[in-house]
Amino acid sequence: MALSSVADLVGDGLVDAADAPVLETVGQSFQVLLTDTMRGAIATPNDGVARQFLPSAAELITRPEEMTDPIGDAVHAPVPGLTHRYPDRVILHVTQTCAVYCRFCFRRETVGATGVLPDADLEGALGYIAATPAVREVILTGGDPFTLSPRRLGAIMARLHGVPHVDMIRLHTRVPVVAPELITDGVVAAMVGRAAVFVVIHTNHAQELTDAAGAALARLVNAGVPLLSQTVLLRGVNDSVAVLEALFRALIGLRVKPYYLHHCDLARGAGHFRTTIAAGQAIMAGLRGRLSGMAIPLYVLDIPGGFGKVPIGPGYVEAGDDAWVVADPQGRQHSYSDPD
Ligand SMILES: *Cc1c(COP(=O)(O)O)cnc(C)c1O
Ligand code: SF4
Repeated sequence: MALSSVADLVGDGLVDAADAPVLETVGQSFQVLLTDTMRGAIATPNDGVARQFLPSAAELITRPEEMTDPIGDAVHAPVPGLTHRYPDRVILHVTQTCAVYCRFCFRRETVGATGVLPDADLEGALGYIAATPAVREVILTGGDPFTLSPRRLGAIMARLHGVPHVDMIRLHTRVPVVAPELITDGVVAAMVGRAAVFVVIHTNHAQELTDAAGAALARLVNAGVPLLSQTVLLRGVNDSVAVLEALFRALIGLRVKPYYLHHCDLARGAGHFRTTIAAGQAIMAGLRGRLSGMAIPLYVLDIPGGFGKVPIGPGYVEAGDDAWVVADPQGRQHSYSDPD
């Protein structure tokens, strides 16, 4: 049984009964939910998996810089349920429901039990996509698209495959990792079609990558769906070279290409998870040269307010007086000259 309340967590021994009253208050603002698979991945109530899902009193602290819509989803919403910020791609928020609720979620103000995008809004969003030839890629997110019924997800995918200018359909999801049993061969078969389909999994710690998750990922790759990953840099969870190296090595072994390492967004009550950018850059520098280039994601910040994602990793090149100065992975400097 999924754990969906503070009482469930107390009953399971994951949180202390004495902490329950304050955590109930947290749970009123930000829902509590973790799956059996994630419960099984928790070794101790303080480890890198547990911290992502167990509520904490620190979530009641809102810092002045924190926002209710940190990445500006609502700033670029031409119709309900759709975000169109970059010319060639849109995000379709097919549901607000997730299989788990992460304590640092950048959309924590909108995700929860409100459920699927109403039919009228879905039709409006699909109509906008069909009428906007500049849109080459549709990203299904939410919430988590794999929490939809296989029939509803299949129907949405079929509609998108039917739009001639849509070349790519991407699904952003945590389900293959946190609820791998939902990724059945039937669901996968209903997804593939004319447009290229990519799945981008959200995962933050190697301990999440259970055998069942590995099997779900294999079902996707073996059906011809390339896999990428997104990771959120989280203090106390994965803010070290060793933990991220283990995660990225495990992902590559599962045929998942690490895509983005996100700096933690300015979501309300997530300050205890946020590192400094300098700390993130030092970790990225520690990975470079040590780990296959294929296993290294791009470290990005989604500029608060809806201004887009940009790379914020460490710099290796600077303009010198008459040549570039380039640093190698060990930090030694070298000169490089352009053609005249
Ligand atoms: C993150 C995001 C995308 C996808 O960006 P990529 O850099 O292509 O992965 C698209 N639209 C919005 C609004 C986003 O926030
Ligand atoms: S799965 Fe994604 S959208 Fe859902 S709570 Fe976690 S971070 Fe937020």
